[in-house]
Amino acid sequence: MTFSPQEIHAIRQDFPILATSVRGKPLVYLDNAATTQKPRCCIEATSRYYEVENSNVHRGVHYLSELATQKYEAARQVIADFIHAPSSANIVFTRGTTEAINLVAHGFSRAILKPGDEIIISAMEHHSNIVPWQLACQYSGASLKVIDLHPDTSLDIEHFKTLLTANTKLVAVSYISNSLGNINPIEEIIRLAKEKNIPTLIDAAQATAHMPVNVQTLGCDFLAFSGHKMFGPTGIGALYATADWLNKLPPYQGGGDMIVKVSYEHSEFQKAPLKFEAGTPNIAGSIAWAESIRYISKLGLTRIQAYEETLLAYATEKLMALTNIQIIGSSPHKASIISFLHKNAHPHDIATILDGEGIAIRAGHHCTMPLIERLGHAATARASFCFYNTFEEIDYFVEAIKVVDRIFA
Ligand code: PMP
Repeated sequence: MTFSPQEIHAIRQDFPILATSVRGKPLVYLDNAATTQKPRCCIEATSRYYEVENSNVHRGVHYLSELATQKYEAARQVIADFIHAPSSANIVFTRGTTEAINLVAHGFSRAILKPGDEIIISAMEHHSNIVPWQLACQYSGASLKVIDLHPDTSLDIEHFKTLLTANTKLVAVSYISNSLGNINPIEEIIRLAKEKNIPTLIDAAQATAHMPVNVQTLGCDFLAFSGHKMFGPTGIGALYATADWLNKLPPYQGGGDMIVKVSYEHSEFQKAPLKFEAGTPNIAGSIAWAESIRYISKLGLTRIQAYEETLLAYATEKLMALTNIQIIGSSPHKASIISFLHKNAHPHDIATILDGEGIAIRAGHHCTMPLIERLGHAATARASFCFYNTFEEIDYFVEAIKVVDRIFA
């Protein structure tokens, strides 16, 4: 079941920014893969925190500190429940997906990787699931292997099988490509890796707000995701990891909060997750993120996914009918992200013209430079939809592309 137009209308009222205008036109926000807009409950939780709850966590014994600690830890539980983690102790708060992946890459380079070891990623990873592994390889003498793509841009699983060897120490792949929208067959990837006792890290930055995610059913060892892609604040995200890995990996950063005891000679660390949370965390961010998660949970991720599928199908059909437009990637399994090119106009020109019409899309390499280059381009235009977008907005977007046609005739 999806949402009725009346329900979408009501949902839009919960997002104050959607009622604003840009360049004198009503905002049509189609850049949800970059970041999502925030519902009022998230915005209000942020102000409430700073107005009447602000204090530091895990430190004081006074009322406000206890309240902040209780709300911070309750937020951790909300996030654990949302991805069906066995316990809130499996959730490490980070600044976002990037920091979550860096935390694991850092730990692997210090404690796991040796010269000759291999890490497998895919050809469609975001820079944040490439560069940390390159650094880890540089420090440890390990090397990076890359899963190939089929001509339709879907992952070549047969090639993946050939990369899995006795030297493989981790497989790190994205659930959904932020550039192409491909939903990768991570269940199969995790199963194949598991058969060889190889751990898996899933970059779920584009997944957690658009489909139900269950880490226990998936059986992954790590899952990284960001609050701001899930209608929550920027600067907050999380790493899910199994208890075994959280025990095995060394601390990422040292400082306050992550220790039990410190002397000049030696320090004793907290148990995970606090072992990985040095310094004062983003307390307001975690509490407000939990509000956004409550909000989308109430809408229901299955319904969100069903509605976004209808938006994707509608937009794809409309764009395919335009003679000047070429959609990049034709994987059959896609989330509501469309990368496209115009026969005559550069992606940046498309984005600029659409911006003049009040429409926000993205142009560039989308932090997947190797992928875009491999597909033979320097940049693409990208429209990404979510549950507060409407069919009328897609019609308006398609009409605005006809403006591009006229200017670049
Ligand atoms: N991976 C993917 C697939 C993404 O789309 C993004 C954000 N564009 C990231 C990782 C990085 O997320 P963040 O910037 O929130 O750390």
